[in-house]
Amino acid sequence: MITTALTELLRIRVPVVQGGMQWVGKPPLVAAVSNAGGLGIITALTQPNPDALRVAIRETRAVTDKPFGVNITLLPSINPPDYEGYARAAVEEGVRIFETAGNSPGKLIKYFKSEGCIVIHKCTTIRHAKSAERMGVDVLSIDGFECAGHPGEEDIGGIVLLARAAQELKIPYIASGGFADGRGLASAIALGAAGVNMGTRFMCTVESPIHQNIKEKIVASTEQDTIHIFRTLNNTARVFKNAVSKQVVALERRPGGAQFSELRDLVSGARGKVVYDSGDPDYGIWSAGIALGLIKDIPTCEVLLRTIEREAEEIIMGMGRQVKLQAKL
Ligand code: NAD
Repeated sequence: MITTALTELLRIRVPVVQGGMQWVGKPPLVAAVSNAGGLGIITALTQPNPDALRVAIRETRAVTDKPFGVNITLLPSINPPDYEGYARAAVEEGVRIFETAGNSPGKLIKYFKSEGCIVIHKCTTIRHAKSAERMGVDVLSIDGFECAGHPGEEDIGGIVLLARAAQELKIPYIASGGFADGRGLASAIALGAAGVNMGTRFMCTVESPIHQNIKEKIVASTEQDTIHIFRTLNNTARVFKNAVSKQVVALERRPGGAQFSELRDLVSGARGKVVYDSGDPDYGIWSAGIALGLIKDIPTCEVLLRTIEREAEEIIMGMGRQVKLQAKL
């Protein structure tokens, strides 16, 4: 067993968090991750309204007695969501662990802390991490450039970002972006992290609620199969490279660039959802990180977390031996 500040704070067995994922962070996956010893997280905005989130929380609780959380991400949206309504619904349903992400999370963090909740805040810069630390969050999720979805605009890869976190942060942090296996967990721990956050890896599990074709597409893909859209709109997102995402980038690169209104129909989340429902990977935009290159199978969450735990333990134990041998040479 790998015991860290994260496993102790959240009372989980394995220091692995399943981060928020639009259209994927639904009860069956969340419960499977929590039952397997990690922390499953329901993505609030995947539910059409706060009452539907209440139902999702109850469905999750019906199949796991282990801790799980709720993600609320604040980013530009075609239809601005009722963030406070989602937050209140989750707190009233008894959720005590939240993952926040995105722009200007201060009000939400303050609310969750006033309700005695544990807040894991995801950020892509040390400046934002320190600001969230001052707001009183409990854990930072340090999201490197490798990540799926929104990596911010500063393009700092995980190795340096995590080493900077070790220098600067006082509270525990977990490593996010590019993690998919035991080697990743061991390296995150070496960089001072109390665990990892994984998204793309969990998309490709038996319990993930997306079409089997998309899981098989992930297995067949490599680390070269993602692309950044919205670079020119200051809302960069790493997504799967397909005809639609390449078209978006081409429109952005035209002389004079593109307004969001010109991209809206191509990029809408509603269209991306059809990818997961129908199994057509080319239908719309869907998030994926470069961890794509590491994913070679579609395991259950139980098998995945047991394998990661065992691999990480073996690597951590072996590291000491390797360093000693090298020192002798
Ligand atoms: P959506 O249909 O509202 O928007 C699709 C994409 O366009 C999103 O990436 C969004 O950030 C971007 N966008 C919307 N308006 C924009 C604008 N005016 N300028 C620049 N970019 C703009 O998104 P959705 O799929 O219905 O998701 C709803 C919200 O959840 C969005 O804010 C989205 O970014 C966010 N999200 C959350 C997660 C998560 O893990 N929690 C993952 C992906 C997306």
